[in-house]
Amino acid sequence: MLKNCQVCNKVFAHPTRTMCDECYKEVQASFEAVKDYLLKNPGATVAEVAQETEIDVEVIYEFIREGRLSVIPRDAQLSCEICGDPITVGRVCRKCRSELDPSSAAPFQPSSRASSGDSRVRYLDQIKRQR
Ligand SMILES: [Zn+2]
Ligand SMILES: [Zn+2]
Repeated sequence: MLKNCQVCNKVFAHPTRTMCDECYKEVQASFEAVKDYLLKNPGATVAEVAQETEIDVEVIYEFIREGRLSVIPRDAQLSCEICGDPITVGRVCRKCRSELDPSSAAPFQPSSRASSGDSRVRYLDQIKRQR
């Protein structure tokens, strides 16, 4: 199964990975560096880790979100994208996750309301024009 690498957009084949071999290795190396640094310096902050490992703060936060780090930076603060409560892993807190309809894969469809309003306006426009 061929897909495009999430990072460099190169086409590659792998059943589960979302990035090509090269990028995967790079991310793995970054992850190891972050993990190592945190194991040696458990009280480090995100900024310190980024500076010492030369890895992007965003990438470090991604590792934290994925829940892959056993030690997370002291000031790593993730917050629920819905209610803003502090969380330690993922993007949404447990409470909000359980409130989301588990059957709907896409929890947010902000465009659906706007587009239905749009079509109503267009409909009224048509009526006006017909008169
Ligand atoms: Zn790649
Ligand atoms: Zn929440």
